[in-house]
Amino acid sequence: MEIVIMLGAPGSGKGTLAVELAKETGIRHLSSGDLLRAAVKEGTPAGVKAKAYMESGNLVPDELIAEMIEDVVRADANTQTLLLDGFPRNVPQAEILAGMMARAGVTLRCALLLDVPDEVVVRRISGRRVCPACGAGFNVDLLPPKQEGICDACGAELIIRKDDKPETVRHRLEVYAEQTFPLIEYYRGTDKLVTVDGSGDDLAWKTQTALEKIRG
Ligand code: AMP
Repeated sequence: MEIVIMLGAPGSGKGTLAVELAKETGIRHLSSGDLLRAAVKEGTPAGVKAKAYMESGNLVPDELIAEMIEDVVRADANTQTLLLDGFPRNVPQAEILAGMMARAGVTLRCALLLDVPDEVVVRRISGRRVCPACGAGFNVDLLPPKQEGICDACGAELIIRKDDKPETVRHRLEVYAEQTFPLIEYYRGTDKLVTVDGSGDDLAWKTQTALEKIRG
């Protein structure tokens, strides 16, 4: 197995790009946020612990998310390429991941940064909608549903995620700047960083460019 790490601010569109890359190539997409939201919904012990951190826009404890990711990496040992979206989120998690990969004999293909200016990030997050029933994600600008406010996949009414409310978004951006942004230098230092300009709305272009960079 080899791993591609997706890096980018909340609202950079990295989740949307990851889903698109997975669709185009069959690469397995693993979103730490989706994994945690599923655990919260199911009420697992990890989910119960994670809930308050997530609702306030803070990171859940490193060991909690690292264990969940390691379980998936172990269970998916036969997967050729795993696209990690949302993990690692800080330098300690990057170090945990490096140890995990060494133990599992997994290599890092690259860390793909979707680079987006702050003002675009704020606009993108305020346009974000999710389906509470099936988890599908939409964006009123970037990826609008066919019928306003309704999920294309299952017909349920779309909602704004609790942690996409303006006060929480501000806090998540601070958490990103303090904890996640340093990962860019961390992966540049390992010579594994590749960058895609994420400021435009053309998802097909971003997908194609990301694929070229991943394939090197
Ligand atoms: P996301 O969908 O990636 O924006 O994640 C939503 C929330 O889940 C974050 O605001 C954090 O509370 C939590 N979360 C997701 N991934 C991680 C991670 N790698 N480390 C800690 N918390 C995380």
